[in-house]
This record gives sequence, C-alpha cells and structure tokens, in this order.
Amino acid sequence: MPNKEKALQKAAKIPNKYRGQYRSAMAGNSRTDAINSFCRECMGWKDVAAGIKSCTAITCPLYPYRPYQKNKTKQRGSK
Ligand code: SF4
Repeated sequence: MPNKEKALQKAAKIPNKYRGQYRSAMAGNSRTDAINSFCRECMGWKDVAAGIKSCTAITCPLYPYRPYQKNKTKQRGSK
C-alpha cells in the first residue's frame, strides 16, 4: 500500500461502513472500490447515496462509473 501510514490515518476518519472499501482501494485490490471511495469522499462521506445519485458533474471522468446508478455504463474491457 503506497503511503500506508497516511492511508491508515485517513481511514480512521472515514465512517465505518465505508472504511473497508477504502482500505481495499488503497491496497490496490479493486478499481470499483477506488471509484466508489472517491465519489463518497467527493460527497464528504455524508448522504453519499443521495449526493452521488444526483451528481451533476457530467464532465467528471468518474461520472459514468459512479455508484448508486440503476444502469451503469459498461466499463472498458468488460464483456
Ligand atoms: S462523479 Fe460526481 S460524485 Fe463522483 S467524483 Fe465525480 S463529481 Fe464527485
């Protein structure tokens, strides 16, 4: 994990229910966990589902991949 100490310090400030996914992302285990964690952080870790669902930043590179969508865009390389 890059900058493990900083990531551990940050994880301690993240709500419990999102902490595991953040740690997984920081360990390089999952791109989905990384995207989800980034979007939740973008929302300040509060009211994340509602905030991300109503995100209007359509030019954000993560917009098509953000969580809490009914019909997610297929990720490149997926079949
Ligand atoms: S898609 Fe929306 S919620 Fe996710 S990082 Fe971009 S601006 Fe933030």
